Parts: sequence; structure tokens; C-alpha cells
Amino acid sequence: MAQNEKPTALIMIFGATGDLAKRKLFPSLFRLYEKNKLGDFAVIGVARRSLSNEEFHASVSQSIHNETSDQEKIKEFSSKFYYHSHDVTDSDSYASLNKIAEELDNHYQLNGNRIFYLAMAPEFFGTIAEHLKIDGLTDTNGFKRLVIEKPFGHDLESAKKLNKQIRTAFSEDEIYRIDHYLGKEMVQNIEVIRFANALFEPLWNNRFISNIQVTSSETLGVEERGRYYEKSGALRDMVQNHMLQMVSLLAMEPPISLTTDEIRSEKVRVFRALRPIKGSEVKDYFVRGQYDKGLMNEKEVPAYREEDMVNPESNTETFVAGKLMIDNFRWAGVPFYIRTGKRMEAKTTKIVVEFKDIPMDLYNRQEGSVNPNLLVIHIQPEEGITLYLNAKKTGQYMNSTPVKLSYANKGIDGLNTPEAYEKLLYDCLRGDATNFTHWDEVALSWSFVDNISEVWENEKEQNFPNYESGSMGPKAADDLLEKEGHFWWPVTNLDVEKC
Ligand code: NAP
Repeated sequence: MAQNEKPTALIMIFGATGDLAKRKLFPSLFRLYEKNKLGDFAVIGVARRSLSNEEFHASVSQSIHNETSDQEKIKEFSSKFYYHSHDVTDSDSYASLNKIAEELDNHYQLNGNRIFYLAMAPEFFGTIAEHLKIDGLTDTNGFKRLVIEKPFGHDLESAKKLNKQIRTAFSEDEIYRIDHYLGKEMVQNIEVIRFANALFEPLWNNRFISNIQVTSSETLGVEERGRYYEKSGALRDMVQNHMLQMVSLLAMEPPISLTTDEIRSEKVRVFRALRPIKGSEVKDYFVRGQYDKGLMNEKEVPAYREEDMVNPESNTETFVAGKLMIDNFRWAGVPFYIRTGKRMEAKTTKIVVEFKDIPMDLYNRQEGSVNPNLLVIHIQPEEGITLYLNAKKTGQYMNSTPVKLSYANKGIDGLNTPEAYEKLLYDCLRGDATNFTHWDEVALSWSFVDNISEVWENEKEQNFPNYESGSMGPKAADDLLEKEGHFWWPVTNLDVEKC
């Protein structure tokens, strides 16, 4: 689709009364609407509870009230929303959903284009996809696309089963598996920083890079998601998708063009080169943690095991650190360290690329060694890049001191960068699947993660809880790097806004 062409579609949101719809989907659609990026469209909201169209409009309006003070605009936008009370497990009700879809298609002239957004618990994904096919909703003259939220399965087996079910109704290129990290401005920027700069690409390999560190930390605990999290844990919730996706973007070869297929196939090659970690090796490469009580903002917070819907003897990890090795020509010998966890010191997602030391340090013979060059990519909450270099320390002697060059995204554009969901919805409406995960990526990342979870499920961790709330995780995560002569760069000090 041409860049200035406006997409037209009927969007069906399954789970339209849920948290995701209200917090992310309605506001993102509204922003696209306000920016005049949408052609004709209508939305059918689907959930079980009984609501009139007017009540649904009120709920949509409420969820976008922070976006604008223009009440007319809100009204105009909400009037395109229709509600259908429907239990997705009830086969009888899909026929009436199809009838409404056809009416709206005619009324708004939507060319039979349909997007089915599954903003619901994953156990329903397969059933819904099958019904969409059986009951004729996918039988349309326009395009049909399925947007599916994470988690995509619980392990490789369940992911395969789910994929098989949805493939009965949609082809691979009609399936948009959301990983909202891929919609983030600075995650998309990884590719541009690498492939548009003569400065970095020649150095982007094992000759010049010592190690790469990816940290995604949260300050929140499990909140009300205890039931889900008990079965998931940080490995499945964060590593299988977001963390491995960021690593694949950092490690991929330059694609021959920016088409969806070319970029995805380069990412898949990274997953294929990822060294499998199995059985007794797991403890040498991966560390798990679970938060204990502690102080956050001077307030006492409970341990994971004391949270609602959590087993008081839970073996679930709320923190993971790992060393990934990519066994190909470019990356042989360079560790990619990842860590992610809940109830950590700061909410931040950052990538630190540490370059190798220069062969000889001329300037700091008395005062210790020169600092390595670092490229820091700030993903969230700040967005930007900092490059740490060395320059002459002011004064009589020829000593070096670290200096930083910094670029903060917001400062340059003067605009708030679009939310990940806004970008991804727009991509999907335009038929661009580049920033969604292909089945091959999902399958390969599950097979990597399954080896680790198998060991962790069979060997209860005796030391849980092993990190205090408000810390940067267990000591074993520091030891993991120390034994390689590395250490975690303190991400809380590498703040782009402070530069
Ligand atoms: P949620 O708040 O629990 O909403 C679930 C929705 O599904 C509600 O609208 C509920 O409405 C509807 N529903 C439940 N059972 C149904 C049935 N049998 N038939 C029809 N509708 C049914 O969940 P959520 O937080 O929005 O999450 C939705 C999905 O997004 C999940 O896959 C989650 O993992 C993923 N996700 C969410 C977020 C987030 O920020 N919330 C972030 C990333 C991913 P009724 O009760 O009225 O039926």
C-alpha cells in the first residue's frame, strides 16, 4: 500500500471490554483517526457482557478522554463503534456477528476488508479462528487479517497446536502476531542505527565488540496477574518473545532490502544460530530469581510468594539473566547478556554495546585503564542513544576521561513518538507484517526456551526468594558476567535525559 493511501477496514475486537482494548487499542485507533491516517472504518466490539451500543460508546469515549478536549471528535469517532454481546465459545452466535459485519461492510463501503483482533485470553485464540472460518466471517472479498496477542502458546508443543488451529482459517501472511516491543520507536531504530551508519556497521562484529547487554526491568510486581504469572514466569513472559526479538535485531545480518520477507529471514537466521543450552549446561548460562519483600519508594512491598493467587512455595521465576551465544561467523565468542525482572530498582529497557579495549592504553598508565567505548540504546522510558568515548582530561597531563555524545528522541522531533500499538495497528491495516513475529521465529524461540524451562521445572530452586525488591536482581546474575571478566553496566546511571 502506498505511504499516503488510507486503509479501509472493518475491525472486530474480541475482548472489547477488557484492559488492553481500553488502555491501548481504542486510544491508538483514535490517534490514527485524529491524524487523518484512516480511510473508512468501523469497529465491532465483542465480549460476553451485555452492553448497548450507547454504553459501548461511553466506554470508548472514556478510554480516549485524555487524547483530546474536542468532544465532537470523540463523538464522531465513537459513533463508528458497534457492540456485539457474544460468548466466543458459543457456536450459535457467530452467524449474527457475520450478519452485523456484512451490514457494516455495506454501510461504510469497507470493500470486505476485515481485521480480527483477538484481545482475549490465549485459550480462546484457536476456537475463535476456527469459528471465523466455519461460520463464514473469513469468507470475504477483501483482505482478512488475524491479530493475535501474546502469549503465543506456553511451549513449542502448545504453540504448534495453536498455529495449526489458526492456519485452518488464515495463511501465514494473514497472521499478525503482536510483540509490542517491535512497535517501539527505539527498537525499530536498532536497525537504522546499525545499517545507516558507516561508523557502526564495520565494527559490528566479534573483532570489535566485547559483549552486548540487554536489560528490561520493571518496578512493578505481578499485581493482579498472579494466576497467569504462576504458569508463565519471566522466561516465558519476557525472554521467549521481547528479549530474543531485541537480540535478533542486534545480531541479524543486513537484509538485502527492507521487505518483510527479507528482514524476517535474517532474523530467523539469528535464531537458528543461537546456541541451544540444555540440561546440566543451563546453570552455566542462565540464572533465575524471585523477588523477596523490600522497600520501593520507601514503601514496604511484599515478596512474590505473598502476592495474590501465588503459591506460598512458588518455584516461578520473576527474574532471568542469561548468556546467549550466537554461533556464526560474525558473533562467535561474543556473549549477548540479557536480564529481565519484576520489582527491580528501575523501570527501564536499555541496550549497552560494549566495544573491545584498544590494543594499548597510552594515556592512563598511572591512573588505571581507559574506559571502553559504549553505545547505549535507550528503549524506554527515555528514547535515545548515548555514545561513550574518551577525550583528553583537561589539565597539564595527557590523560583521558570518558565523555558522552547524546541524542534524545523527543528533543529532536518535538513530538511524542507514537505508541507501539498505534504503529502496529497502522502496519496491520496497511498490510505490513515486518514488525510482527513470523511462525518460524516463534517456533525457534520456543525450542530455545523450552530446554531451559524443562530444567527449571524439574529442579526446584532452593534459594527462592533470592533478590530483594528494589534491587537489580540476585547476586548470581552478577557472577554470571564476572566469571567472563565482564560486569553489568549500571543502567540506572546511563540515563539519556541526564546527559
Ligand atoms: P482482560 O482485561 O481480562 O479482558 C478479557 C476480555 O475478554 C474482556 O473483554 C472479556 O469480556 C472478554 N471475554 C472473556 N471471556 C470471553 C468469552 N468467553 N467470550 C467473549 N468474550 C470474552 O484481558 P486483557 O488484559 O485485555 O488481555 C487480553 C489479551 O491481551 C491477553 O492475551 C493478554 O495476554 C494480552 N495482553 C494484554 C496486555 C495489557 O496491557 N492488558 C498487554 C499485552 C498483552 P467479558 O467478561 O464481558 O466477556
